[in-house]
Amino acid sequence: MLTIGSHMSIADGIAGAAQNAVEMEANTMQIFTRNPRGSGYRACSEKERERFDAIRRENGFGPVLAHAPYTMNLASARESTWEFACMVIREDVARMDALGIENLVFHPGSHTGIGVCAGIENIIRGLDQGITGRERITVLLETMSGKGTEIGASFEELKAIRDGVSHPERVGICLDTCHVFSAGYDIVHDLEGVLEEFDRVLGLPLLRAIHLNDSLAPFGSHKDRHAVIGEGQIGMEALLGVLEHPRLKNLPFYLETPLDDGGHKREIRMIRQQLGEADPVSGA
Ligand SMILES: [Zn+2]
Ligand SMILES: [Zn+2]
Repeated sequence: MLTIGSHMSIADGIAGAAQNAVEMEANTMQIFTRNPRGSGYRACSEKERERFDAIRRENGFGPVLAHAPYTMNLASARESTWEFACMVIREDVARMDALGIENLVFHPGSHTGIGVCAGIENIIRGLDQGITGRERITVLLETMSGKGTEIGASFEELKAIRDGVSHPERVGICLDTCHVFSAGYDIVHDLEGVLEEFDRVLGLPLLRAIHLNDSLAPFGSHKDRHAVIGEGQIGMEALLGVLEHPRLKNLPFYLETPLDDGGHKREIRMIRQQLGEADPVSGA
């Protein structure tokens, strides 16, 4: 069965988020590690952690994905910005690992003028002070659309980051369908070719998660504008091709489409119907 969920609010705590995911017939979820626009977080009690574990176990959850805040920029040349990002990644790797969350994804960052190479060096130093190598969690680099001076719009840049860190075995990749499309990887007409290139540059075993989004912006536009599945420039047919691909179909998929929980519930149901899967709740 497909492992799919959407980005969930942690306003009700992590166990509450998992319970809300169950109610939308999802079997995984993505959550922010902390306030995505600030830096605060609420500690998770032992009781809540146990409830979170029980919900995941009883509902056959696939890997849960934690997303680091957008405000962190490990590529930054500004000392205070870089140090803040270092603190966030260090704390969040430890916190999410302690919760038994399988993967933590972050945006590699924007070099803001110092150049890709210097930006990548900063990212590597930042990851090295945050990953001890003793974790079970895997830190995922997200494929980006390449807006502005964003790093990570090419598989080669992601490979350079992973190759540079002290614990590459703890680093994998999260592929965002909207981002790769707007970055210029043609998953609509040549998914096979894109996956071959991923495999050649990075190796497909490094791919651990997929952000499943349609794109409002056209191919190669380097714009990051998510659309509802089937309502964007990628379209239903191509996204079903991603979901059904033999090398991808066992990965966990996370929706970040512009919908509320009710909308995501309908979107998940629609995707399962398109794939010919039985409704996991009614058993129909
Ligand atoms: Zn992201
Ligand atoms: Zn995006």
